[in-house]
Amino acid sequence: MADNSLPLVTDPGARTATRRDRLRAVAVEADLDAIIISNLVNVRYLTGFTGSNAALLVRPNGADVLATDGRYTTQARAQAPDLEIVIERACAPALAGLAARNGALRLGYESHVVTIDGLAHLQSAMAGLGSGTEPVSIHAAVETLRAIKDGSEIEALRAACGIADRALASLIADGGLRAGRTEREVGRDLDNRMLSLGAEAVSFETIVAAGANSAIPHHRPDEAVLAGGDFVKLDFGATYAGYHSDMTRTFVLGAPAAWQRDIYDLVATSQRLGREALTVGAAVVDVDAAARTPIVEAGHGPAFTHGLGHGVGLEIHEAPGLSALGAGKLEADMVVTVEPGVYLPGRGGVRIEDTLVVGTDGPDLLTLTSKELVAL
Ligand code: ZN
Ligand code: ZN
Repeated sequence: MADNSLPLVTDPGARTATRRDRLRAVAVEADLDAIIISNLVNVRYLTGFTGSNAALLVRPNGADVLATDGRYTTQARAQAPDLEIVIERACAPALAGLAARNGALRLGYESHVVTIDGLAHLQSAMAGLGSGTEPVSIHAAVETLRAIKDGSEIEALRAACGIADRALASLIADGGLRAGRTEREVGRDLDNRMLSLGAEAVSFETIVAAGANSAIPHHRPDEAVLAGGDFVKLDFGATYAGYHSDMTRTFVLGAPAAWQRDIYDLVATSQRLGREALTVGAAVVDVDAAARTPIVEAGHGPAFTHGLGHGVGLEIHEAPGLSALGAGKLEADMVVTVEPGVYLPGRGGVRIEDTLVVGTDGPDLLTLTSKELVAL
């Protein structure tokens, strides 16, 4: 019997301190006197703190400061015991003022998340101190760090994927995927199974798309009734310790028609080639092309309407993007999805998606549900 116990993923300071040290190296490299992090997901990644209002000051001397408001005093001390904590409702301006008072001249900030108003607040907090502090964009420096997962992150992702695998297996074993049910009923059933198996939440609104709806890549489940002969596409995931799983499987209710078998086999071949192309050093555009080529050659290129995959972690979509428009190369311990699809409007569509860890010995598959065409 499989070991279904979930790992205890706690958030000890050692890991978050290591991550802050990596950001500190970015600060030194860019000649910054301090960095303010205001993206809450990045604050969580760097501190372990999960509250809904926070900012983090990372300083070259290691004296990092977490700001949050009075609702979170206890939680911040428990989740980030290694950090000095400032209680202030306007978190980022408070930290900007602190940095300016301490003589910071070049203050890094996340220009891709700070609004124009937010930047004005930072500047007014620094103005009048006579320090001459100037804000400098660090772009998506933390998102770049997050693309490469550490061991605890990979274990959380593996646990999240395992929950999704077991939920789908139990749904099928109990006959939950059958003609006569609505898409919405199937979606809620699958969600409840993930939650009872230990998911903190679902990764995103579960996609259940039957019949012609399966040709809509991100169809929202509605009152459509599953019928014999339908493709049924399920795209879903669980979160565990903050980390998201992502998997798509497509089934046929009853015996598949020849056209269904054909596009299923085509997408399965594409998906296998995409997984095989996940090698350390591969350009993301080449991974996309490896999976896209057979679909284009079969004349279905225009029916594969999205990129091949995406990074997954504390967010469902994160770096790197695997698409023809992507940039960069795969590195060891990136966690990505491979999810080609062919969608024939008015008839039906197939997508097959796995989540995998890129590694020097080939990818490590985290979503283990079979990809054979299953006729239910
Ligand atoms: Zn998905
Ligand atoms: Zn996905």
